[in-house]
Amino acid sequence: MRVAVFSTKPYDEKSLLAANQDGLVQFTFHRTRLDQNSYTLSSNHDAICAFVNDQLSSKVIQGLKEHGIRLIALRCAGYNNVDLKAAQSSGIPVVRVPAYSPHAVAEHTVALILALNRKLIHASQRVRESNFSLDGLLGFDLHGRTVGLIGTGKIGMVVAKIMLGFGCRVLAYDKILSPEIERMGVQFATLSEVIRQSHIISLHVPLIPETLHLVNAQAIAQMRDGVMLVNTSRGGLIDTPAIIDGLKSGKIGYVGLDVYEEEAALFFEDKSREILQDDIFARLLTFSNVIVTGHQAFFTEEALHNIATTTVRNLVMFKEARHLENQILK
Ligand code: NAD
Repeated sequence: MRVAVFSTKPYDEKSLLAANQDGLVQFTFHRTRLDQNSYTLSSNHDAICAFVNDQLSSKVIQGLKEHGIRLIALRCAGYNNVDLKAAQSSGIPVVRVPAYSPHAVAEHTVALILALNRKLIHASQRVRESNFSLDGLLGFDLHGRTVGLIGTGKIGMVVAKIMLGFGCRVLAYDKILSPEIERMGVQFATLSEVIRQSHIISLHVPLIPETLHLVNAQAIAQMRDGVMLVNTSRGGLIDTPAIIDGLKSGKIGYVGLDVYEEEAALFFEDKSREILQDDIFARLLTFSNVIVTGHQAFFTEEALHNIATTTVRNLVMFKEARHLENQILK
């Protein structure tokens, strides 16, 4: 089974080869992103393997079909970058890695919360410059604060456990109420209650049409003054110009982002010698109470190992015409 892997980084190649020690899959690694200019690289392959910012539009899927591709294997959990209807009508199944390490993403979420609250980036820079003043570094106790989780699936649930461990009150909104999560001590509430009551709001729902720009100007207006907003899910959950307005007015006190709506043009590449063209992103980086990381929440040893193992298993199941347990739409 020949598989063209797109957006390959050295760590992907290493982990996929390690998971394929039996040699059941023949990988061709491409550094380039999958889009309408690059899909021809899939010629003479049976499947393609794609990541979060590869573009699986209907045009690309049609092109893949014409090049003989029979399976799309995502090496990620989210699938907002895939036109599922187009895949379905082309008869190409799409498989993914639904869970590889909710701990990786949840722990990065908490790292952002702690770094924002205790101003760790500034504190560290100051000490390097022999400035030991504490002015401007005042934080708050997490203990007793209300943390609002939007989405209590695999990742949201781990964030809930960690924040309960800090002694926070955890409020949550999800379309599915989980008695297991309630028993942990989480209180489910409406979206509006979570937005209005929380000192810290963290997003853990997928990006789908109903959740696009869930955090917009109207939602921000309902939030507590000085709220901390954290997004490690998908950039499109937030209307970025609206949070810039919230930061400018002081309504929003802190923002921690691992994802950004227009990240496909930026993230995962070294752009340090280029002129930043995205003015909205550039404005976001001017605020001292904003931390942005470049979609690295998933990036732990355990997650890479699990992503590669599940991806190879998904490919082998297809090769052996077995049931595709991780298929998105049957
Ligand atoms: P999950 O499927 O386990 O949980 C998602 C939760 O959202 C579910 O409980 C579901 O009921 C809820 N939900 C879905 N639609 C909703 C709606 N319209 N309103 C309210 N609730 C809704 O997913 P997960 O593994 O916890 O991952 C969450 C998201 O994190 C993924 O969709 C992905 O986009 C993102 N993610 C980011 C990274 C990263 O590196 N930053 C890594 C992995 C996943």
